[in-house]
Amino acid sequence: MTSHQIRQAFLDFFRSKEHLIVPSAPLVAKNDPTLMFNNSGMAQFKDFFLGNGTPPSRRIADTQKCLRVSGKHNDLEDVGFDTYHHTMFEMLGNWSFGDYFKKEAITWAWELLTEVYKLPKDRLYVSVFEGDSKDGVPFDQEAWDLWKPIVGEDRIILGNKKDNFWEMGDTGPCGPCSEIHIDLRPASEVAEISGKSLVNNDHPQVVEIWNLVFMQFERKADSSLVPLPATHVDTGMGFERLCMAVQNKTSNYDTDVFQNTIQVLETLSGKTYGAGIEPFADIAMRVIADHIRAVAFAITDGQLPSNVKAGYVIRRILRRAVRYGYSYLGFQEPFFYKLVAVLADQFKDVFTELKTQEEFVTRVILEEEKSFLRTLESGLKRLDVIINSLKEKGVGVIAGQEVFELSDTFGFPVDLTALIAREKGFQIDETGFQDALAEQKKRSRQDAAKEATDWIELREADGVEFLGYDFEETHSHIIKYRKVKTKAGEEYHIVLDRTPFYAEMGGQVGDTGVLIIDNGLENGKKVIQIVDTKKENDLFVHISRDKDLDDALQRAGIIVAKIDETRRDRIKSNHTATHLMLSAMREVLGTHIGQKGSFLNDEVLRFDFSHFSKVTDEELVKIEDRVNQKIREDIRLDERRNVPIKQALEQGATATFGEKYGDFVRLIIFDPAYSFELCGGTHAPSTGKIGVFKFISEGSVSAGVRRVEAVTGAKALEIMRQQEETLNKIKDLLKNPTDLVKAVEGLLDERTNLQKRIVSFENEKIRTLKSELIANVKKHSTFNLIVEKVDVPSAESLKQLSYELRDQVENLIAVFGAEIAGKPQLSVFIAENIVQETGLNAGKIVKDLAKEIRGGGGGQPYFATAGGSDASGLDTALEKAKGLF
Ligand code: ATP
Ligand code: MG
Repeated sequence: MTSHQIRQAFLDFFRSKEHLIVPSAPLVAKNDPTLMFNNSGMAQFKDFFLGNGTPPSRRIADTQKCLRVSGKHNDLEDVGFDTYHHTMFEMLGNWSFGDYFKKEAITWAWELLTEVYKLPKDRLYVSVFEGDSKDGVPFDQEAWDLWKPIVGEDRIILGNKKDNFWEMGDTGPCGPCSEIHIDLRPASEVAEISGKSLVNNDHPQVVEIWNLVFMQFERKADSSLVPLPATHVDTGMGFERLCMAVQNKTSNYDTDVFQNTIQVLETLSGKTYGAGIEPFADIAMRVIADHIRAVAFAITDGQLPSNVKAGYVIRRILRRAVRYGYSYLGFQEPFFYKLVAVLADQFKDVFTELKTQEEFVTRVILEEEKSFLRTLESGLKRLDVIINSLKEKGVGVIAGQEVFELSDTFGFPVDLTALIAREKGFQIDETGFQDALAEQKKRSRQDAAKEATDWIELREADGVEFLGYDFEETHSHIIKYRKVKTKAGEEYHIVLDRTPFYAEMGGQVGDTGVLIIDNGLENGKKVIQIVDTKKENDLFVHISRDKDLDDALQRAGIIVAKIDETRRDRIKSNHTATHLMLSAMREVLGTHIGQKGSFLNDEVLRFDFSHFSKVTDEELVKIEDRVNQKIREDIRLDERRNVPIKQALEQGATATFGEKYGDFVRLIIFDPAYSFELCGGTHAPSTGKIGVFKFISEGSVSAGVRRVEAVTGAKALEIMRQQEETLNKIKDLLKNPTDLVKAVEGLLDERTNLQKRIVSFENEKIRTLKSELIANVKKHSTFNLIVEKVDVPSAESLKQLSYELRDQVENLIAVFGAEIAGKPQLSVFIAENIVQETGLNAGKIVKDLAKEIRGGGGGQPYFATAGGSDASGLDTALEKAKGLF
């Protein structure tokens, strides 16, 4: 079976068991503050398990793009070194939301593996949770009883809490699990050592392929466990490992999932994979073949490499790949970007989004590669300096702090430092490095520390209703609340059963407003200020920084939830303007313009998009004109809710990659022939409400991505007024000339002319001064001395004067004092031959003299200057100078 067939067989099997097949959620996690990337199949269904939403079907199956490079699951360091852990991998999964439980999950898993995929039964082992007395959870007898007749007692392994008890996080749903492992060793090895003893022992050919999780408990913040009202099944099978088993290989990289990429790498590098001569070349090919998937799909789903957070994670993966290519495959020039095409082709029918954005993804990777290769170069230079200085000192170990700085500041990977150090006969202080790293981690943990109490449930509700498309104010009940300690102070997070508050999403900021409680309170009504609204999974969380709300929240009956309408109106205008602008951009710049990021609030709208050159001033004007034309046409909003996604896309709606859309979507249309978007945001009732649209900036964000900012309505007027005011002030200052530009140009010309004249006057003055000084030279037997207070325009003139005098007076020693713009200056000049003969040093002398003017200075032995703060000391300094020679 090819990998395509294997994937399809999984989906077909569960479809036949009445499962709804859904698409993978994007790799980049949305609306989940606890996750950067989806790291398991269940991540997109979290809400259904938490009871915050209802699934579209009680049985679901899919393949999910997962990334395990940060947080709880981080496999990055193993990737490439072993043959069965990836950064990005596909997790095949089937789910029951309060529907079937252990019996079906177990029998179906077995049926699929042995009858559809025909995996040999005598090579499969299963594990069952042994129980944990400390936690008060018993042995999973039910699973044991189900497996025993299927696999036989001697193929069941008991697993501890670490391997066989799954938890969503520190709190939330959890339960025992049953894993299925496969032994892929050759028969001769199996005859010698039983596979059973190798399960869960990191053997590369005895690996876990499928994990069946049975959710039946909820973990509370005090770490106690309570049974869940409904039980669920969550399974996850590693697709690449399954392919290895079905295709009878001993490494995931030998399957057709990775072979295409590896073959291209062989051609590019001239090395043969698996030849066994250069183990690190093999590792490098695995690392690269793996990492290109993670990087390409992350960029496709909207996560560009950057210096912070999720973007930084992607940048590090990319750099790890480039670095392995650089060190072990001899790639000194960009190569990684060439692999995008291989993947785009391979996945064109599964994850079509990559094919559609192939050119963009390729260019982003190429730019990143170029910049990293430059970093590598400067890191190498820095490392050279370090090593040379150690050589001089006779030290053989590079300090941990240096290694850390190389990696932290220069982005220079630690293992590369170690490798190069080794090649040059040096070691690195590994412990010192780990200490520095731990120290930094501790710092960043402290920064992120956020403490939350359990939710305090006040009343039952099935889900949360958002009414903000139609109402600015609703009557609501408080369902639950909690307190969260953040760096900014304590916050209350409040969840309502119905709300008009829009929660930050799709680039639109959350609403602000008030909750008014006047029901159930003893001391009249209470008004709670809401400063922001955020989505946490499917919950709308209203955030308040007011103090001591527990009592009021707990007593509240019906409350009034009311948003700040004026602010919302401005937000609406900015959101609608963003849509109008995107269409105009596609007309003016081309249809390749894709949204790469968007942010809008009541002040400004910011939009990032794929485009490879600067948007010129003329183009900006064209776009602006087009948007304003559409505003004047006053097109009415045509909003359609609950449109089936297929229908929407067929009609030509624009969707943004990396956004997760449900089966039913909302359409925002301003003239179907002009702007037709899938969007969950709030919009102006007609375009005329925007008033006016004006760009305020255009620039680059990263390779291939530009950013514009614009303002609308009252804000635009405000900004234009400010500019007008500045202009008027300038006009006033220039006495209201008819042609302002000409007037300013005239001023600039005049200034240049005046400067030229000043210079010539000053030169003239210095010439006169020079003749006077020459006339007053004090002749000594071995030198000629000038000590004078002079009137010159700048410190630079002292130097000029000294040098010009040198050419006319031999054996010159000249000490000058001057007051320049109120500040005392001193200079000392000593002819070079005198310096050589006598050892006199202008630098030392000027330092000594500078004490008199309360200053300091220095320079060379033949010329030095000093500045000070006490001009009244100049005469004393010069007197002192006379005494020195
Ligand atoms: P392992 O112990 O091998 O790391 P796990 O316990 O972390 O696996 P689960 O979290 O149970 O794995 O994930 C479900 C399935 O996903 C596993 O059975 C395995 O087949 C697959 N899987 C997990 N991590 C990876 C990975 N990094 N790369 C590829 N497949 C993986
Ligand atoms: Mg793991």
